[in-house]
Amino acid sequence: MKTFDFYANGQWHKPFSGEYLDSIDPTTGEVWARIPKCNTEDVDKAVQAAHQAFEHGPWGRMLPSERGRALRRLGDVLIENAEILGEIETRDNGKKTKDITPGLKSWLADSFYYYAGLADKIEGSVIPVDAPGILNYTRYEPFGAVACITAWNSPLLIAIWKIAAALAAGNTVVIKPSEYASASTLALMQAFEQADLAPGVLNVVTGLGAQTGADLVNHDLIRLVSFTGGIGGGAATAVTAAQKIKPVIMELGGKSPQLVFADADLQLAANGVAAGIFPPAGQSCISGSRLLVEQSVHDEMVEKLIKVISSARLGHPDDPATHIGPIAHKSHFDCILRDIEKAKADGARLAYGGNAVKPGNAANGLFIEPTIFTNVTQDMKLAQDEVFGPVLAVIPFTSQEQAIEMANDSKFGLAAGVWSQDSARAIRVADRLKAGTVYINNYFNATTQSPVGGYKQSGYGRENGIEGMKAFMQIKSVWLDTTPNQPDPFA
Ligand code: NDP
Repeated sequence: MKTFDFYANGQWHKPFSGEYLDSIDPTTGEVWARIPKCNTEDVDKAVQAAHQAFEHGPWGRMLPSERGRALRRLGDVLIENAEILGEIETRDNGKKTKDITPGLKSWLADSFYYYAGLADKIEGSVIPVDAPGILNYTRYEPFGAVACITAWNSPLLIAIWKIAAALAAGNTVVIKPSEYASASTLALMQAFEQADLAPGVLNVVTGLGAQTGADLVNHDLIRLVSFTGGIGGGAATAVTAAQKIKPVIMELGGKSPQLVFADADLQLAANGVAAGIFPPAGQSCISGSRLLVEQSVHDEMVEKLIKVISSARLGHPDDPATHIGPIAHKSHFDCILRDIEKAKADGARLAYGGNAVKPGNAANGLFIEPTIFTNVTQDMKLAQDEVFGPVLAVIPFTSQEQAIEMANDSKFGLAAGVWSQDSARAIRVADRLKAGTVYINNYFNATTQSPVGGYKQSGYGRENGIEGMKAFMQIKSVWLDTTPNQPDPFA
């Protein structure tokens, strides 16, 4: 079994309390690693290091293009360590190795290269203020030590997105992954030691959200919090941050609708809707978990969907032949099964799946079949609450207006999909959907260049793109008087 320590000020430390938490492999049910249970003293050590590195270390004074070079090294190190990091993430949360490892080598490494290039390109402006003789200009500046709190479903992806943008902006970082999947972030830090960042620039603490996470958010020297997780943890974090007037970036959950119109290519839509939820077993924030389908093609669409998913192979996440891996941890697995029972009790019709299963090559794992419910109505829990599992709710509509109304009738607004061969109509519908990302005739695309984030209770602030870096910066307005005129106010 592997025991990790936490990382602060360029060194590995044992937790002050001496306590560790078990990390359980969701495919085997075995405790495979132990992670530190950091307390207030440990969090303080990491935050002080980040603060010192920003205020007094080379990082805070570094030229933007030098930061860019440091970020490029992080990208290179990520590629060099992708195999081992992918294996650890698979053990940590059951993510399929064939998805994570190539991603680390390509589009996730690109996060570092993208922000490396952007580090010296964020420009302020000269503003024509109504004040004669005054030169007014703006500067984008980093906040200082920032906290990055990540969820268990994609710890490496979320950490990389946050670290790349926060560091490029000139901040120093303390990262806190979920207690359910912290090992891959600790291993990422082990790899990043090869990039020779100055001590304190990047630090990792682990432990319980309500304790370690809350201590981190509450620390006086943390100037901004970037949070990815659920509404409950997000609201608690926002409340804690509000006590100290700290800005927060919130990347929360969703109940994202997929609108399939009768004029869509139904086979394309069936492939896209299935791909938009089932391969990660529904454990993606942007899962398209509500299928709104035009009544006239409802039965044909459901039939096509069932045909697509009936060939899905559940199994060990390191087996290249596996399509769907396990649920990342036991309490979440139990939650999903409860949601399935609740949907049945509420009158939804189970059209496919709905069971926990034991695949041959991973008989002790936490697997749930891809599941489809029809006869779902807007008032059901299944139509309104995030399951964060492989459960698709199908709801028919009879007009475009009704489809848009139902799509927007949600407390969430993270993503949406529109399937239609009439591009002009698809664009008109996309304009009216209250979601941070809308996909037309595709789903699940996300690259570093384009911002992601939520409307409504799916969050605020953005990650990725130029906006993702500016979210980690604050604007200073500078006023310079070019005239020698400073009249005596009391003359
Ligand atoms: P949680 O909100 O439970 O946890 C998220 C993170 O916050 C974890 O590190 C957790 O630690 C920590 N945390 C929990 N409570 C507090 C607190 N009071 N103060 C500080 N930190 C705290 O979410 P999940 O981990 O269950 O993740 C699933 C959710 O994340 C889903 O809703 C999903 O949609 C969303 N998500 C959103 C994404 C986006 O980009 N919009 C991307 C991925 C997921 P611990 O786990 O140790 O309790």
